[in-house]
Amino acid sequence: MDKNSDVLCQPDKSKSCGACCGLYNYVNSSRSSLTERLRARTKRFHEIVKNKNDIKNYVSETIAGEDWKKRYEVIYCCEYLGFLDSAERKVGCLLHPAQNSGLDLRDVSFYGQKLCAGHLCPSHHFIPKSQSQILIKIIDDWYLYGLCITDIDLVKTYFRLLANHIGEEVKPEVFDNEALKKIACQYFDWKITWPFRSPDANRLGKYYFDGSQYMISYIDYEGYGRDVSKFNTIFLSLSSVFKNAKEIEEAESLILSNIDNFIHTYERVF
Ligand code: SF4
Ligand code: SF4
Repeated sequence: MDKNSDVLCQPDKSKSCGACCGLYNYVNSSRSSLTERLRARTKRFHEIVKNKNDIKNYVSETIAGEDWKKRYEVIYCCEYLGFLDSAERKVGCLLHPAQNSGLDLRDVSFYGQKLCAGHLCPSHHFIPKSQSQILIKIIDDWYLYGLCITDIDLVKTYFRLLANHIGEEVKPEVFDNEALKKIACQYFDWKITWPFRSPDANRLGKYYFDGSQYMISYIDYEGYGRDVSKFNTIFLSLSSVFKNAKEIEEAESLILSNIDNFIHTYERVF
């Protein structure tokens, strides 16, 4: 949540992440809905909050003005997440000192100043730096960036598959090549556009909440009379729901053709 050099939260001027502030935890977490929500908050915050005493007015108007239905009840949706810039390219904390002439107002928040300032999500530990650098390089969209940078399986599995074929880790500078960048972007765009993502799937990844605990969703391959797909991890990250074995094959072909396309282009260029 805090912003200093080597963290993934606010990597550059063209995007940022707000996932751990509950950004995607609204039942309606579509891009248009979140954009409207963050836009209204940002406007309201700048209009109302002239000093710390005004924050309670901002909160009561925000609570009254929004739909607070959540995907996962246990994840807090923070009312202070908004846009940090007028171009609405960066999501982030409206209470952060950078937004308030140096004044850190985060002590009024649900998590408190210390947690907000110190939190680093698991992606910081589990996604290798070269891979997060690639994401930062190729994605310039807050909505997609936050979804991808927090999906460790989606990121690591892709780069492992590519490395297995190429024989070495793919380096960030490889993505200076526009064709390779485009192919990788197609893969990460699937986080939003994946044709096998059920609109009913009340989740944005492999976890769902059954009312009392997180469960990892699964795909009933046996029921479809087939083995577990080698792309199972990716399918779960993309919240896939298949109607039959044919759809699973189609989904496998999509991933396979993306990887083949990457490898062939890579071999041609390098
Ligand atoms: S989810 Fe991770 S990358 Fe995103 S803002 Fe939180 S700590 Fe930063
Ligand atoms: S107060 Fe904390 S949880 Fe809320 S937006 Fe700011 S950093 Fe995120």
